[in-house]
This record gives sequence, C-alpha cells and structure tokens, in this order.
Amino acid sequence: MALQGIYAGSFDPFTNGHLDIVTRSLNMFDTVTVGVIQNIEKQSLFSLQERIDMVRQSITSDKVEVEGFQGLLVDYARQKNVFNIIRGLRAVSDFDYEFQMSLTNRAQEPKVDTIFLMTDQKYSYLSSSIVRQLAKLNGNIEGMVSPYVAQKLKETFHG
Ligand code: ADP
Repeated sequence: MALQGIYAGSFDPFTNGHLDIVTRSLNMFDTVTVGVIQNIEKQSLFSLQERIDMVRQSITSDKVEVEGFQGLLVDYARQKNVFNIIRGLRAVSDFDYEFQMSLTNRAQEPKVDTIFLMTDQKYSYLSSSIVRQLAKLNGNIEGMVSPYVAQKLKETFHG
C-alpha cells in the first residue's frame, strides 16, 4: 500500500521553505497532498485559488497533488483517509504551537499522527509573513520564493 501524507498550511504565499519540506517529505511518502487551507477567520493576502496556483507552479512532481480544503484538518484527513500530517519546524519558537496543534488533532482523531521535518538551515528564518512584508516594502526576496510567486507579489503590491 502506498504511504500517503498531507502537508497542510495557509501558504500565503508558498515559499522555498515550504517547498523544502515537500521535497523532503517525498523521501518518506509515496504521495503527498498539499492541502491549502481556506481560512475564513484569517484574512489572507492571496485568494485560495491564487495560493493553490502558486503551489502548483512551484512543484512539478507527479507524486504531489494540490487542493484546497475548508474546516478542520482532522475532517479533511478522515475524508481522504490519510492520517499522516506533515509539518515543518524552523526553530524552537515553532514548537509550542505545533505541539499544541498536534495534540489537539490527535484528541479529535486518534488515528492522526504528525510528522515534523526540520527545515534546511537557509530557510530557518523564512516565513510567509516576512516575505509579504519584504515584498510590500520593495525588499529583496530572491531565493525565498519561486519566480512565479515573486511576480504575483510584485503585481499585488506594486501593480
Ligand atoms: P499555517 O498558517 O498553518 O502555520 P503556513 O503556511 O504558515 O501555515 O505553514 C505551513 C507549514 O509549513 C507549518 O508546518 C510551518 O511550520 C511550515 N513552514 C513555514 N515556513 C517554513 C520554513 N521556512 N521552513 C520549513 N517549514 C516551514
């Protein structure tokens, strides 16, 4: 049976740090679903469709499927019958939140396990919010996102 994983996030926008985690996860899983969260509470810079497109443009592997989802991650996991949740860790500062989410998800659905992958050192300080701020203020985001994402950011902030 093929080993499947779900990598979920807001990906607002998808960065090279996210891509690094997807690439690493493919060494472990036969297929990975990137689940882009349609968060109704959190206002995102990019629409769900734009975020999905950005992930698709960044990944060429046919072992990866990209789709949006709404609601609880555990419900999405149940619906797909995939209970391996992949998350990336950058620094100790990520740990508290990820630990809380992981235990919450398991309390909701005992079948769920979270697999944490440590990011490459060069992406350890990279986040979607840093990229958004840099792009807004005309900073240099080279190497942080794909050229497609960089272009989308440019269009969004600077027309
Ligand atoms: P969320 O809004 O659910 O935190 P994100 O899109 O910010 O979604 O992140 C999705 C996942 O990717 C999280 O597990 C996060 O820790 C991880 N991640 C974010 N940035 C990086 C990075 N630079 N390197 C590795 N993992 C990262």
